[in-house]
Amino acid sequence: MKSHLTGIVMVSALVAAAIADAYALQGSSVRDFDAEIRTAMQSAKTAADVEFLGTLSRLCLLPQSSTEDTFDNVPAFVAKPSSAPARETWYADPARVFDNLYFVGGKVHSAWALTTSDGIILIDTIFPYNSEELIVGGMRKLGLDPKNIKYVLISHAHADHIGGAEMLQSRYGAHVVMGAADWDVVAKYPNRYKTMAPKRDIVGTDGMKITLGETAVTIWATPGHTPGTLSYTFTVFDRGRPVHVAYSGGTAFNFPNRTPDPGIRNFQTYIDSQKHMAAQAAATGATVILSNHSEFDNAYNKNRMLAGRGNGPHPYELGTDWVQRYFQVMQNCARAAQIGLERDLVRPAK
Ligand SMILES: [Zn+2]
Repeated sequence: MKSHLTGIVMVSALVAAAIADAYALQGSSVRDFDAEIRTAMQSAKTAADVEFLGTLSRLCLLPQSSTEDTFDNVPAFVAKPSSAPARETWYADPARVFDNLYFVGGKVHSAWALTTSDGIILIDTIFPYNSEELIVGGMRKLGLDPKNIKYVLISHAHADHIGGAEMLQSRYGAHVVMGAADWDVVAKYPNRYKTMAPKRDIVGTDGMKITLGETAVTIWATPGHTPGTLSYTFTVFDRGRPVHVAYSGGTAFNFPNRTPDPGIRNFQTYIDSQKHMAAQAAATGATVILSNHSEFDNAYNKNRMLAGRGNGPHPYELGTDWVQRYFQVMQNCARAAQIGLERDLVRPAK
């Protein structure tokens, strides 16, 4: 208890210091917040170019949803399955993307099956209403047996990624890996996670390796989107050639961020996580960036390009520079929003 109080006092002191700094800067009137925001936005646009327009629009241009989720209601698509979105809005064909990596997601949300000599590591599980057809059905279409799923990695505990985890754990006995804070959220909101709550299993931590056969996925803690968000690095093969992948586990700013406190701190957590992940991508030589939403990594379109690839380059392989640029987009859009909150400290928003 005492250490908690000390922590709160320290955080309050940090916030007070940040406020004092902001006022001091106002006094010297050296900061042009609007110009700083424009610069950060321009850096994001330059980094995104035409490759990451989806990520740029989500983070820099579209309005942010930023309320803390404290509801515990059964989602409509669970309470009344007939209210789930129509199949044509989410169905996508499965695809073998690399020698050992298969897309088993939908038009909007992704799930990936990484095959190894000793079973399958599944990354993200989409919604309860489409995981059966897209993941179980998709794997069968591609000649993979879902019974061989040994690990299910959940990037974060939102319904569009954890939706099939309970089913895959109970049906196939797969181990589920998730960040500690997100395991806690699942336990805290039993209605919100109805049919989506795997039994608490493996807590993914920074630098942990999930090894199956000769393949390892390294987990990186990237809190921000949710407190327990996990990202990954791993190696796939393209016609026998090793290709390194960075998987970004959480993207949008849907954490509390309307007010300077806690918004400035939450954006800093997010920015620090993207720097951390960019460093891991650089260290592993990642030339592919994957995400769990296809508007961020263009998976849905790239799967169609892949079908016509012939002897051309792999459409997912962008090179190390582009992978770094992806994280630059995330960082600069977050920084632009953070500067807006710094401005609110000295010029409170109406
Ligand atoms: Zn999410």
